[in-house]
Amino acid sequence: MINMEPVIGLEIHAQLNTRTKLFCSCPVGQKAEPNAHICEICAGQPGALPRLNEKAVELAARAVVALGGTVNAFSLFSRKNYFYPDLPNGFQTSQLDPPVGSGGGLNLALADGSEKFIRLNRVHMEDDAGKCVHDEKRDRTLVDLNRAGTPLIEIVTEPDLSSSREAMDFLKQLRGLLTQLEVTRGRLEEGEFRCDVNISLKPVGSETLGVRTEIKNLNSFRYVGQAIDFEIRRQTALYAAGYAIEQQTLHFDHLKAETRPLRSKEEAHDYRYFPQPDLPPVTVSPETVAAIKETLPPSLESVKEKLIASGLTLEIVNNLTATPGALDYFLAALKAHNDPKRLGTLMAELFLPTIRSKGLAPSEAKLTPPKLGQLAQLLAEGKLGKRAAYEMFGELFASGEDPLTLAGAKGLTLVSDAGPLLEWAKEIVAANPEETKLYLGGRKKILSFLVGQVMRRSQGAADPKKAAQALETVLGALSQ
Ligand SMILES: [Zn+2]
Repeated sequence: MINMEPVIGLEIHAQLNTRTKLFCSCPVGQKAEPNAHICEICAGQPGALPRLNEKAVELAARAVVALGGTVNAFSLFSRKNYFYPDLPNGFQTSQLDPPVGSGGGLNLALADGSEKFIRLNRVHMEDDAGKCVHDEKRDRTLVDLNRAGTPLIEIVTEPDLSSSREAMDFLKQLRGLLTQLEVTRGRLEEGEFRCDVNISLKPVGSETLGVRTEIKNLNSFRYVGQAIDFEIRRQTALYAAGYAIEQQTLHFDHLKAETRPLRSKEEAHDYRYFPQPDLPPVTVSPETVAAIKETLPPSLESVKEKLIASGLTLEIVNNLTATPGALDYFLAALKAHNDPKRLGTLMAELFLPTIRSKGLAPSEAKLTPPKLGQLAQLLAEGKLGKRAAYEMFGELFASGEDPLTLAGAKGLTLVSDAGPLLEWAKEIVAANPEETKLYLGGRKKILSFLVGQVMRRSQGAADPKKAAQALETVLGALSQ
């Protein structure tokens, strides 16, 4: 049998972070009684005229710029006609051609540390539908239009993804970016970030795409993974048995972890798009695009360059950027201890291997960024030896305790108080008359031998720099 490989594309719907709806001033995203937040516009009353929410356009353009796409100076809203009880207008107001944004893409960080560029086809704006609520008790379906008219962007990728893992990582990275930019709040459980998956199989190496199926409306990364894996298995089995794949729209049943066709009536759409005559074209000026660019946080590429310039090795930088959330954790820890090199080394050698082995995200660790910063600070101040820090890290990670407190409790902090150090220095000088004589005669290098003796005497507890200072004090007094 020919070896087949999956080809996956995504259509992501992200709810724009506006206070009001796309074409009216009804509030968005607030808990309310059904149909409390509706007006004649979002309820689709005859003769009501929509007015475009400028903030929604700005947020959509922001997403396009951040994703490296082109903001089209001129785009159009169209009517996408179909009937559904929760769609009061009888059409969805969406953008067909031209959309607000074209092209762009995202560098997806793969598990092996390499990157894969996932191309975007387009970004367009549209309004959301209401909701049908089935009332079991009275055996009737009710319509709630609070969500009708909520602004969305749809981000359409090219079919560049090849596995459930890649699709899930892409969605996490995209959601991370869009929430960081405050384009969307991205709450999955609220349906603010959801996607449709297109999937087909093709012979390995072939350029020709197979017949695809579309899985609708997934609002959990785990469901996306399960749905893709199920669909790959289903299509592979059909090919193996010599059946053709039928182009169809599927629903994912998360309880059974399987896909099922939607009823054919529901998928037989002929939208008959035509320009929405009630709305003027959407214009975004070059000045607006330039202003958006000014306010965007630095791109991943430029953050990487900066980190390398600050003394981190490429290996550590890649390590930080390959694990989702690790860079944010690092930047937060940097606020507690501003030495990228020391902190980056701790991240690469201790923190990241530990979270990976435990299967945690950086944000889930009990050891918070400020505490990792404190650990680096203790090392920098010489209050804790490197070996001791590495020894106690497992416990520190598990408990999330204060590093200084834990090191103290375990007797791992270095002694840097002048009192005990001077006592040890006097003792060692007295016990080593030959070396003392040589030192006083000008052989300054002998000092490191004496420091070693103090370290031994203190069983490794002395801070070596402070021990050297104490010895110099004692020897200085002898020479006078
Ligand atoms: Zn309204």
